[in-house]
Amino acid sequence: MQTLHNAAALRAAVSGWRAAGQTVALVPTMGNLHAGHYALVELARARGAGRVVVSLFVNPTQFGPGEDFERYPRTLAQDQAGLAGHGCDALFAPDVAAMYPFGPQRSVSIHVPHLTGVLEGAHRPGHFDGVATVVCKLLNLAQPDLAVFGQKDFQQLLVVQRMVRDLALPVRIVAAPTVRADDGLALSSRNQYLSPQERALAPRIHATLRQMREQLAQGQPRATVEQAAAAELASAGFAPDYVAIRRADDLTEPAEGQRAGLVALIAARLGATRLIDNMLLD
Ligand code: AMP
Repeated sequence: MQTLHNAAALRAAVSGWRAAGQTVALVPTMGNLHAGHYALVELARARGAGRVVVSLFVNPTQFGPGEDFERYPRTLAQDQAGLAGHGCDALFAPDVAAMYPFGPQRSVSIHVPHLTGVLEGAHRPGHFDGVATVVCKLLNLAQPDLAVFGQKDFQQLLVVQRMVRDLALPVRIVAAPTVRADDGLALSSRNQYLSPQERALAPRIHATLRQMREQLAQGQPRATVEQAAAAELASAGFAPDYVAIRRADDLTEPAEGQRAGLVALIAARLGATRLIDNMLLD
């Protein structure tokens, strides 16, 4: 596996593969890789990629003031070893100057309207502008045939799909199911911030999503299900940012009685750590 640090090296590698008729996949990440990330690499292969590029870039423009940009875990050597063992062909690990030649503050910024004003977007202003901008740059740099994103970050997946469609970017977006620990906690680089006590509590988020799915299937009103779930999380020691049931295609509020095409989404703080998770309700 090659590790590439600049755009020219990435372009050279990818154009050689494409000239040889190989299908190229991109898997964007912020590093500190775990089994959830490796599953994206494997899914890229299963969807026909002859070559897989994983990008590793802790993107400053998607972190707000006071968020964890500075302390986000950076584990390049460990990630390189893990990727080599999971069939990755190239790791693209640019520095900030390579991604933002005019500086992060002066970058062209991509704003995906509507989808980004709610839920994560409401609690992390500007976050999805940073995500859309860096993903667009990575797609332009790597020019992959397909790019894989996890459903773990459900709203991010919708934002990327919308951007790709609206800007007619020539790439196929592939959605990967969430990989979980045995107790249901969605794998996340941020899980390592949790104390042992917090880690023991954290699977409640997934349990709550399952309970919401059951209650909705039993015919309970959506607002009642959301409120009960938020109250239970709060009494267990979480500080929920939102507990919501939305339409899975655009995150708008469903009509009362709508049961198909829904997703339940939770963001909650546990101590200093903010956790997100979601579940399709079909
Ligand atoms: P991150 O490094 O957290 O920015 O995540 C990079 C990619 O991996 C995103 O598309 C995430 O949605 C995806 N991802 C993160 N955690 C998981 C997980 N537990 N299961 C599946 N995909 C994940």
